[in-house]
Amino acid sequence: MQPVRTFLRHQFQSVVRWFDSWSGTRQVPVGPGTGPKRVEWSRVLPFLGVHAMCLFVFVVGFSWAAVGVCLAMYLVRMFAVTGFYHRYFSHKTFRTSRAVQFLMAVAGATATQRGPLWWASHHRLHHKHSDQPEDVHSPHQHGLWWSHMGWITSGENFRTDLRQVPDLARYAELRFLDRFDTLVPFLTGAAMFFLGMALGSWAPGLGTSAFQMLVWGYFVSTVLLFHGTCTINSLSHLIGRRRYPTSDQSRNSWILALVTLGEGWHNNHHYYQASTRQGFFWWELDVTYYGLKLLSWLGLIWDLRPVPAHVRAGAPRTRRG
Ligand SMILES: [Zn+2]
Ligand SMILES: [Zn+2]
Repeated sequence: MQPVRTFLRHQFQSVVRWFDSWSGTRQVPVGPGTGPKRVEWSRVLPFLGVHAMCLFVFVVGFSWAAVGVCLAMYLVRMFAVTGFYHRYFSHKTFRTSRAVQFLMAVAGATATQRGPLWWASHHRLHHKHSDQPEDVHSPHQHGLWWSHMGWITSGENFRTDLRQVPDLARYAELRFLDRFDTLVPFLTGAAMFFLGMALGSWAPGLGTSAFQMLVWGYFVSTVLLFHGTCTINSLSHLIGRRRYPTSDQSRNSWILALVTLGEGWHNNHHYYQASTRQGFFWWELDVTYYGLKLLSWLGLIWDLRPVPAHVRAGAPRTRRG
């Protein structure tokens, strides 16, 4: 009887954490080696559901309006992930006000890649242990599938390790967004639904509808965004060139830089994490940096940290591997 009761309690807890991700997690150990490396199905059902919902494109059909919004939502939210979750919350490569910090956290949360504290805490751990056994998403330690998405579905990585982000955890609004990490994604999906509903009645010539916009603008866009982002954890430690002799296997890839708006210059970034810019040379396209520069001209963010000339000069290397 006891194992059944424990099993049921665990399933119930998983469902509660779909809504309140911090519920009862104070005693839950966090980090590599603290749990079995396997998928916790009950906890990741919503994540799988977002993927499954993409199949509804065959039901709701196609319109250029819906596909255009899908692409726009990909680009805007990729910028929020790389510019805000990564270059601000994880690395603090520029400064801003508390109000804009909150807005950046909300924008990042629309990407449905969990809360800002969870994202930054895992990313800081990645830099601490890059391609070592403690690196939760190293393809060299745990294989391609695990580095791409397996690690996200495992119990040992669900909890936010607040010890990694004390500078962020002191803000109540950031803790709130991190704890209730499905709230903003739910509102984003609802916004797409109502956008489709409005366009369906005000501009019927566009041929879209509430459900069509929900499926393309939220579900398809979110899944593409998720896998685009995850290439940096998996592929950017496998494909491309190594300019700088870092202690890990990070690489520079222009294809991944296009997909992720500049994050593909990953070897540059591992070599020098403190700069806002990751494309170190003018020909290294870094759309996120251009966007952040624009925000700085508008006065919303400031003190963007440059790449020092001696860092850029580094110890050039062009060989593969
Ligand atoms: Zn980083
Ligand atoms: Zn990396």
